[in-house]
Amino acid sequence: MRLSSKSKPYMIPEYSLTGDLLSYLTCGLQYRYQNKGTLPPSMPVQLWFGEFIHGVMEEAYMKWENDKTQFPWDWKNDIRPIEDIIDLRLQVRGLYPPANHFFTINHPDIDMTIDDLNEYDHKKLASARAEKAINVWGSDLFPLMESAEVLIKGLRDMPYTKNDKRSKYYGINGVIDVLSLININDDNKIVKYLKENEEFNRIAEKYDEDEYEIIIDYKGMKRPPCDVAGSNNENWDYHERQILTYSWLRQKQEGKKPVAGIIFYLNELVPSIEDLKLIKEDIHYHLTDVGDSEEYQKDIELIDDWTEDDEMPKLSEKFKIDRSIRIIPIDDDKINEALVKFDSVVEKIETSIIREINGEKIQDAWTAEGEERTCSACDFKTFCKNNKNKSEDFKIP
Ligand code: SF4
Repeated sequence: MRLSSKSKPYMIPEYSLTGDLLSYLTCGLQYRYQNKGTLPPSMPVQLWFGEFIHGVMEEAYMKWENDKTQFPWDWKNDIRPIEDIIDLRLQVRGLYPPANHFFTINHPDIDMTIDDLNEYDHKKLASARAEKAINVWGSDLFPLMESAEVLIKGLRDMPYTKNDKRSKYYGINGVIDVLSLININDDNKIVKYLKENEEFNRIAEKYDEDEYEIIIDYKGMKRPPCDVAGSNNENWDYHERQILTYSWLRQKQEGKKPVAGIIFYLNELVPSIEDLKLIKEDIHYHLTDVGDSEEYQKDIELIDDWTEDDEMPKLSEKFKIDRSIRIIPIDDDKINEALVKFDSVVEKIETSIIREINGEKIQDAWTAEGEERTCSACDFKTFCKNNKNKSEDFKIP
């Protein structure tokens, strides 16, 4: 009697919009070690803040839904308890706050007040940003929210790879921070920003409705640079593609048609010294769409005169708030372009995986193209042949 053989397991590779694709674009080799090799980064400062601020905003929304606490919220009574809950949740996952960025619950300053949140000395950066994020945006954002942390998934044809394909399809998944339903007649700060965007108005006119679905994403980072035409920076373009791909997944999954995305760059509300150095560069080289025009002249002068040994300049609320919100109008052509770009990133990752499966060394199979700043914070810089900051001592013959 012939025994039938077990068929090969069928596997569909899954790619996450943030965890895989953006991480690969930062540096392919770093992505390989961190994501495929299950080696977590040793100093995940940005990871910690990103997780922290997402958790704080979600928890704050739930608190607002339950007790409708009036804004502005008191930091010590309303916000600090939320920070503690999120900090503990992150510690359970092995994510600890970076020193001098956050009061831990064991901190001796047990009688802290809002004055302890001196945003200009930056010792309490995470708390200062959480307070601003809730009080600047929460009052207008929370009433518009339909749902938070929405998991979306979809399948796409596996792009052509030079070697064998591992599967006919690949899965793409992501988590939308917030889905909101806005009425363009509402008196709301976020609606006001949307209506100031010409492209959004053009798209909204086509549908001629009062209510629109909007995708909202929080980023624990500064506004990325972009050229005058609003492109040419990997992060800037990637964030737009992320929103456009979310929109495609919403259409596939629920038949919904979001007309715009909004990204909140929350570091802009309380920039760190590092953020401000980069903002200064962006303004100087005209690599930003918000902040270098005449209406911000006073802020531009303050930033121009500032050096990193000085106290932080007192920038206007308008400058900080305008830079913290980005509107991304959505149309079908842009969605298709974004999906083609994502396919090409997946193709590169799949090609490297197949080369590695076929016996190539890891450092040969994956491209190592981190920027200087990425390399200096990379855990693999001591043995990476392409480390941009390699000193003579570390050079591999
Ligand atoms: S050192 Fe630089 S090039 Fe090498 S893996 Fe790290 S980020 Fe990539």
